[in-house]
Amino acid sequence: MAKPKAKAKAKKPTGRPASVSLHAGAKFGDLTIIRKAHLKEGLRIFVKCVCGKEFYTKTQYLTRKPNPQTHCGCKLKVAPHPYAYEKICWQSMHLRCCYEKHVSYMAYGGRGIKICDRWHRDNPQGFANYLEDMGKAPTRQHTMDRINVDGNYEPDNCRWATKTEQARNQRRFSGKTWEHKLKQQAKEKETK
Ligand SMILES: [Zn+2]
Repeated sequence: MAKPKAKAKAKKPTGRPASVSLHAGAKFGDLTIIRKAHLKEGLRIFVKCVCGKEFYTKTQYLTRKPNPQTHCGCKLKVAPHPYAYEKICWQSMHLRCCYEKHVSYMAYGGRGIKICDRWHRDNPQGFANYLEDMGKAPTRQHTMDRINVDGNYEPDNCRWATKTEQARNQRRFSGKTWEHKLKQQAKEKETK
């Protein structure tokens, strides 16, 4: 009886072509080897990227095919748009107010909250105007806050505020947030 188990134990290929030389100065794309290093975790290659970043990597990352490592990751980074965050806020405002399938639509567009013409996406200058009026968000913890929670999205009624500031604002204004209102509406529907 043959034992297939023994066969499966055959040497696995290491995936490391013997021809690759890992001497100091060898180049792998934008990476240059500085030295080999025997760390606790095993053999590592200390490399420097053309962008200046130095780091440890593994031999197999440099030599694998396909997709060998050829840079530190810097090539994947695209310079972020300076107002990328504000653009997202501007877009989500439209989703809440104009897109009926949005989860929050009933709390915004569905109850008559509108976006002023000056900021609206139908206006070719809409986003530029919005930026001019709102300015850059102080941090990414800030989102758009309507000072009067029943009012529209317009310059006089909007500011950047953190979640905490917004919660305080909602209590101060109506005492009843839209969530309460929605629940009430739902109750009224049920009783009809
Ligand atoms: Zn780099």
